[in-house]
Amino acid sequence: MIELNDKYGRGFKTLRVSLLSTCNLGCIYCTMGTEDEVSYDHRPQSPATDLVKRIAALHSQLGLKTIRLTGGEPLLYRELEAVIRGIKALGIEDIRMTSNAFLLERHALKLKQAGLRSVNVSLDAIDGDSFFRMTRRKQLQRTLKGIEAAIDAGLEVKINSVIMRGQNHDQILPLLDYAIAHNIPVRFLEVMAMGHLYGNAEQHLFTQQDILNTIATKYNFIRLPRKPSATANYWQTEQGGVFGIIGNESEPFCQDCNRLRLDAEGNIYGCLSNNKPIALSGNESGEELNNKLQQAMQQKQSLHFVGSELSMMHIGG
Ligand code: SAM
Ligand code: SF4
Repeated sequence: MIELNDKYGRGFKTLRVSLLSTCNLGCIYCTMGTEDEVSYDHRPQSPATDLVKRIAALHSQLGLKTIRLTGGEPLLYRELEAVIRGIKALGIEDIRMTSNAFLLERHALKLKQAGLRSVNVSLDAIDGDSFFRMTRRKQLQRTLKGIEAAIDAGLEVKINSVIMRGQNHDQILPLLDYAIAHNIPVRFLEVMAMGHLYGNAEQHLFTQQDILNTIATKYNFIRLPRKPSATANYWQTEQGGVFGIIGNESEPFCQDCNRLRLDAEGNIYGCLSNNKPIALSGNESGEELNNKLQQAMQQKQSLHFVGSELSMMHIGG
């Protein structure tokens, strides 16, 4: 095992694994809405054994604490349970997933039994028309049923809501009301300059302060202490509900980011903003692997979030 830290003391403790780079929704901040992005049913997928081999190699060097499965949409990955079992067999207990929950109702219990601990569900609206505007898909009810199935299965659930000015900022209070009613935290995300929004995100930005001002029209709240390496700042309402804000633009979390990313083609990246792919086979010698991890660490150079032409769907959000 190696101790890999950069000049800011940042190491790699959390690995985000993108299982595939296609999706069954077409969120307007993540995709251009092209056919290619939703061609998930005929795209080849990397076998679970290859993915677990790469994760095992990284774990042997880094002693990973947490794995987050993401994509694209991880529930479209055919061997999802096998990947979870494979990661558990490596001795990593903290296995999480980020999902749009469209297919979660029928999978939640099996995934929990395989060893999944928690799921962050992306839900940007609680109103059907607004959901359609944000995701280019109807059937909001499928996502809501997925959330309820995950809660019933005993998974820890959080909601992630990307807020875009003029598109869904009227959904902040309904989303918070929904989260409070279901006793789960919700985190509001400032939109990030990724993919087709690179160089063009500002007009859509609804800032952390805008979000707080909106919530203050209905709730009194206090700020909670920030946990190290957390991406979100958290607040608690007087009634006990908890909400977070990931202020990617207002308050970037780069200064203690401990994340390493692995994409569906087997490339690692140390940073969202500075993301030249570093190919990983999983068969590297200790020295080769160490060199690749050093390269990834050098990517983590910026303390300010810059963005990237690569979309979150590709690199794994
Ligand atoms: N499909 C899954 C989902 O939506 O939860 C997992 C992949 S998605 C790329 C992961 C996260 O990235 C989601 O919470 C999504 O809202 C977020 N995301 C994607 N593009 C974004 C952007 N431009 N700005 C902020 N968040 C973004
Ligand atoms: Fe799909 Fe997630 Fe991107 Fe939405 S944010 S298009 S659900 S990958």
